[in-house]
Amino acid sequence: MSKGFEFKDLPYDFNALEPYIDARTMELHYTKHHRGYFDKFTAAIKETSLEDLTMGEIFKHMSKHSAGVRNNGGGYFNHELFWSVMSSNGGGNPGGDLALAIDKGFGSFDEFKDVFANAAATRFGSGWAWLCVEKGKLEVCSTANQDNPLMEGAGCEGTPILGLDVWEHAYYLKYQNRRPEYIENWWNVVDWHAVGERYTKALG
Ligand code: MN
Repeated sequence: MSKGFEFKDLPYDFNALEPYIDARTMELHYTKHHRGYFDKFTAAIKETSLEDLTMGEIFKHMSKHSAGVRNNGGGYFNHELFWSVMSSNGGGNPGGDLALAIDKGFGSFDEFKDVFANAAATRFGSGWAWLCVEKGKLEVCSTANQDNPLMEGAGCEGTPILGLDVWEHAYYLKYQNRRPEYIENWWNVVDWHAVGERYTKALG
């Protein structure tokens, strides 16, 4: 029985994250890039046994699958997560247990932001920066291309609860080569409530 992978609606308008992420970038990112990953992923798994698996099950044994499944399945999953952790009402500070865990893991929220921003800024070429839960603790890491910490062989392990797309397609129209400025502005749209919910869920 197919898991019925879905191309979900963006949870806000293309201009919702202005001025930090511009509407034209959001529109192209969602309708072209994200759509492309989804269409290629579903085409790659069509009428194979992978249709019966969850994304997590596919990622867990990634080395068994094709580069097309890896790149497009990763692209589909990563962007779904990315849209879900941003909001027009974002920014500010995390709260609750997540705030306590960030203080415990990194010293303070500001120190966490430095570690995360550094991971995002220094990822060479295209990829993602992540905040993950690994064995009950928070960790920051980055991955190449459309890999993520759920994937076998990604070089970073855990359950991702926050991800930042640092592919040029995510920022080039507005920021050109100024990736650090994109990262700095992005904190204004992070939906800490959504990240907190993912944190609770990841702890199990
Ligand atoms: Mn992207």
